[in-house]
Amino acid sequence: MKKIFTATLGTETNTFPAIPTGHQLFEETCLFRKASCGRDVPMFGAPLAVWRQRADAKGWQVVESLCAFAMPAGRTVKKVYEAFREEILADLRAALPVDGVLLSMHGAMVADGYDDCEGDLLGHVRKIVGPDVPVGAELDLHCNISESLLKDATALVLFKEYPHVDVPERADDLFTVMEGAIEGRTRPTMAAYDCKMIGVFHTTREPMRGFVDKLSSMEGKEGILSLSIGHGFPWSDVKEMGTRLIAVTDNDMPKARRLARELGQEFFAMRAATHPPYVTLDSAIARASAHNLPKPMVLADVSDNAAGGAASDSTFILKALLDKGIKDAAVGMIWDPGAVKLAFEAGEGATFDIRIGGKLGPTSGPPVDAKATVLKVEKDVTIEFGGARKSIGWIGDAAALQIEGVTVIVNSKRTQCLSRDCFTKLGVDPSTKKVVVVKSMQHFHAAYAPIASEVVYVTAPGALVPDWSLLPYTKVDKAQWPFVADPHAV
Ligand SMILES: [Zn+2]
Repeated sequence: MKKIFTATLGTETNTFPAIPTGHQLFEETCLFRKASCGRDVPMFGAPLAVWRQRADAKGWQVVESLCAFAMPAGRTVKKVYEAFREEILADLRAALPVDGVLLSMHGAMVADGYDDCEGDLLGHVRKIVGPDVPVGAELDLHCNISESLLKDATALVLFKEYPHVDVPERADDLFTVMEGAIEGRTRPTMAAYDCKMIGVFHTTREPMRGFVDKLSSMEGKEGILSLSIGHGFPWSDVKEMGTRLIAVTDNDMPKARRLARELGQEFFAMRAATHPPYVTLDSAIARASAHNLPKPMVLADVSDNAAGGAASDSTFILKALLDKGIKDAAVGMIWDPGAVKLAFEAGEGATFDIRIGGKLGPTSGPPVDAKATVLKVEKDVTIEFGGARKSIGWIGDAAALQIEGVTVIVNSKRTQCLSRDCFTKLGVDPSTKKVVVVKSMQHFHAAYAPIASEVVYVTAPGALVPDWSLLPYTKVDKAQWPFVADPHAV
């Protein structure tokens, strides 16, 4: 009987904001031990559930270690990362001998003293299991792929979809690649191509949609085991930040290199066409004010996306809606545990003076002082996200507040507005509103595009304004597009 070892450790580290990532943030977001997350599977725990199911079906033994993920924020505290790493390594040593290791990681985790946590963890795992045991990892596509990660991994399989609705499906893909390697039927051989560009790439629109579909259609044929696009995470000031094309073949390095290069060059050639259609705050508010179609206009506050490390308490769009006197609007979610507490204290139906948002720093803007009516309060709210197989998220305690014409959801666990549950669980139906503001960069799209007449990506001020020239990079290689018009010509 074969035995596999599995674990999750990750977060997406925005190296610029001041919100620390400590043990508490892992506890709040996702921290389970030894298969204890049960039926409520969080996004980065979903691969563990898939691998357990696939291994069970084969009669393989599974040793499941830590399942730890933190809502993206600043650098992870050094001792917190090291303690989690050592816990996984101790579990692995205790499980030896194993026939394979499967890890669910993010790919852009930075801790104090560790710019490449995934490369560090995988390097330690490789030392323990030796050169011949297959070690695979599933990563978020917003990963910064390091040379050490490529050197020590047998295969890396990345999410293909942005929004990330395919986490369990890619876990299936990695298991299939690893299954062949563990049973000695295949020899995964991996190469990566540095596309030398920095960007945000939505797979909901052409030309990315077609490119992702093309990659999927090539897999499983002619010795091609897996193809992935690493989009990179631009808010991470690390040496290897950027886009990569990864190809895994069956024991054919020249082919892996050729595929990675050719597809990587094709991706690079689409760089201008893949740029998201961003709109300024003033222009978005003018359009929202004039909006009169039956379905809502959805405004994405991309600059205040909690899952990119932002505070999710900025007030720029809320204030603009109130100043413009826009009626029948809804905003979700502003992270403000203090406001939530006061709403619970006042109770449903109460009207009182409240100060909302604008707490974390200059990128949050000033707080909004207003008279609010408490529409509904709810404890420990869960939300669902994903495609065919959903994962669970936790937004904490939450309240729906009515301020003039705007319904505002405030919550106690800093979380991206991933699904319509963020409103509906507070008794607000976003599909009936004229304007819906979601604090999210792109994941909102899966749930909100179906109810929207139009989706507008707003570049309001905030921690995640998608303009790389504003980021004070010190380690990133700037010989990349858009800093350099054609870096491959240099
Ligand atoms: Zn991502």
